[in-house]
Amino acid sequence: MKFTDSPTHKVTFRQQNIYIKRDDLLHSDFSGNKARKFYYFLKSDFKDVKKIVSYGSAQANSLYSMSVLAKLKGWQLEFYVKHISNYLKQNPQGNYKAALENGAKIIEKDESCLHEYISKNCLDEESLYIQEGGREKEASFGVEILANEIKDWQIKNSIKNLVVSLPSGTGTTALFLQKYLDCKVITCPCVGKEQYLKKQFFLLEKDETLHPIILNTEKNYHFGKLYNEFYEIWSELKSSTNIEFDLLYDPLGFLTLINSNYFNNKYTILYIHQGGLLGNNSMIDRYKRKLTFNN
Ligand SMILES: *Cc1c(COP(=O)(O)O)cnc(C)c1O
Repeated sequence: MKFTDSPTHKVTFRQQNIYIKRDDLLHSDFSGNKARKFYYFLKSDFKDVKKIVSYGSAQANSLYSMSVLAKLKGWQLEFYVKHISNYLKQNPQGNYKAALENGAKIIEKDESCLHEYISKNCLDEESLYIQEGGREKEASFGVEILANEIKDWQIKNSIKNLVVSLPSGTGTTALFLQKYLDCKVITCPCVGKEQYLKKQFFLLEKDETLHPIILNTEKNYHFGKLYNEFYEIWSELKSSTNIEFDLLYDPLGFLTLINSNYFNNKYTILYIHQGGLLGNNSMIDRYKRKLTFNN
């Protein structure tokens, strides 16, 4: 099974050519940037490990990707979440449902600091502990492979003035891409504000000149909330490119990109599609309810 070498597709959006690195197509089960970030765990031998222990949100893309990783390795996944809504328990869907189907044990634990709780109570010599969203230094292994695929593509196609664009959560993917690429990497903060993302970058890299460029919007967006302009650009992307993007990160990724100085003929944009499509159905449901209510 191959979990690297995703294709790159050329599309047109708002009269500009953009290239899309299709990490959503890496593999039918193990795709997106979580597959890149967890690639190290897939490829390394862990003699004594029998289970992955991790935590995060019950709808997280990382929950599903870890459940696939565990399945491929023949391990158990023990995933702690602060809260699972009754609605989700009664109507399992998206990442949560798919992770359960892969045999994940999803455990509700109302602790103020799950990281601390797990470190003290849930680990033994058979556990591999992966922190929320994927531990940093291991993530660099798979992201370097992504960077090398981009470099090869750039040389093969004689791409000039390349700029790589992707939206950030923790910023781990963007930071390591910038580390391994010579071109500019531009990103936007989807979780928290610019200061939060800057802080994440500094935790991984002290030299600020090696940080990606952060694009901002005037309006303050909150992660996971619904915004009409998000749904509009997501639909427009779908109809003009025939590609489905994710509804949590990509709308802001594209809004900041098209309003930036990089969206013109001088630059060649490569946008990284980081997967996350399993979560779209529940987001689309929420948008439909909101849009019906508003009209
Ligand atoms: C996790 C995720 C991100 C954010 O990745 P970071 O490395 O934390 O910045 C972006 N897009 C999608 C679809 C994701 O699943």
